[in-house]
Amino acid sequence: MDEGNRREIFTAHNGDATLVLLKPDVVEKNHIGEILAMYERAGLKIIAMRMLQMDEKLAARHYEEHIGRPYYESLVKFMTRSPIVALVLEGEDAIAKVRKLNGATDPSQAEEGTIRKLFAESKTENAVHASDSKQNADREIGIFFG
Ligand code: ADP
Ligand code: MG
Repeated sequence: MDEGNRREIFTAHNGDATLVLLKPDVVEKNHIGEILAMYERAGLKIIAMRMLQMDEKLAARHYEEHIGRPYYESLVKFMTRSPIVALVLEGEDAIAKVRKLNGATDPSQAEEGTIRKLFAESKTENAVHASDSKQNADREIGIFFG
């Protein structure tokens, strides 16, 4: 398959595409299915998905804007400790919709019913990642599905 065709498969045809990561805590606690069901029930379509283990290099690429922040080392240690699930969700306003469904970064601040309120432990071990803009969605989808 040539590069053009490959990219086309993971390009949204209905609304936005956004990158989601189910972080190691989710996989460890067997919450993959429940969280995927929440996205699907919200009307979002899974258009790509894979399980992988992050290494430090991949974590640095994905979290490049966080390098040097006080929490960066613990973030990388967490993200690389066991497998994650990466997926692309597609739908009308998918980028904003998924951020809202995920809830605030700090689960103690997250709204009732959000994924982080229901499943997250702490500010670092907070269950899920989602792209925060169209530009970052394109960049992040390229990292995991390019
Ligand atoms: P979000 O994932 O909600 O977009 P950020 O982009 O600000 O949040 O941070 C990326 C990730 O880094 C967070 O999801 C969390 O795992 C970790 N993180 C961010 N800020 C902190 C913090 N102050 N203390 C510990 N971990 C943090
Ligand atoms: Mg972010």
